[in-house]
Amino acid sequence: TSFGFKEVNEEEKSQLVGNVFTKVASNYDIMNDLMSGGLHRLWKERLVSKLSPFPGMKHLDVAGGTGDVAFRILETIYSVHRRAVDDTIEDDLHDTQIYVCDINPNMLNVGRKRAQQRGLGDLGSLVWVEGDAERLTFEDNSMDGYTIAFGIRNVTHIEKVLAEAYRVLKRGGRFLCLELSHVDTPVFKQLYDYYSFSVIPVLGELVAGDRGSYQYLVESVRRFPPQEVFASMIADAGFQKVEYENLVGGVVAIHSGLKV
Ligand code: SAM
Repeated sequence: TSFGFKEVNEEEKSQLVGNVFTKVASNYDIMNDLMSGGLHRLWKERLVSKLSPFPGMKHLDVAGGTGDVAFRILETIYSVHRRAVDDTIEDDLHDTQIYVCDINPNMLNVGRKRAQQRGLGDLGSLVWVEGDAERLTFEDNSMDGYTIAFGIRNVTHIEKVLAEAYRVLKRGGRFLCLELSHVDTPVFKQLYDYYSFSVIPVLGELVAGDRGSYQYLVESVRRFPPQEVFASMIADAGFQKVEYENLVGGVVAIHSGLKV
């Protein structure tokens, strides 16, 4: 307290540390736009349109991070149904629950702030839950839908995540996964490899000051099972009607499955 230095108490200190992580988490959104040239927005739109969200649904977005997928689901439900002034739909709208589950509380905190900025914070439909995709705290057969976007690649046991997805979904509930995947076309593959191995780490260094993490990102994409293999893992977890759609020649793929 002497020497003219301002003493930093415990609370201020944890705030400072928190700010550092918040910075990482907000960089995250900028990096997404830069690395994908804004395309991740279209991919997420596509994911949500495949889900066909409806008023009153209970949906779980796992590895939901800063809320991108959840916001789009909620906005779709509201934009399609807002003008229907019918009271029953009005009630359903308010019953809608979108759970955003993520293992990293800093990502969720950025998400909460973004929800406020987008005017979605006070609707009462978004529920932010800190949790592990491999051990969900939600009840069996409780969800109408399950999404995971750019999340399953980084988990330790993909099979556990799929088993949990199956467990929490109701019968008739849909599993949807958006993930960076594998490009097959030879010339395009060369371009994509160059972009991944040379451009991405440099972008990571310049924008996030973190080359290593982005190098890791590229390597984790290589290690992720190819489309067909991942599809059979989804089927092994019990899902029916398993299919996938490649976007941009397989740079990303959307896999889906139905619990019947
Ligand atoms: N879905 C968001 C999106 O598309 O913008 C965020 C994707 S981000 C690349 C991956 C997220 O997965 C991070 O927020 C990270 O904290 C989360 N994550 C990693 N392992 C997880 C786990 N085992 N359970 C839940 N979330 C996890």
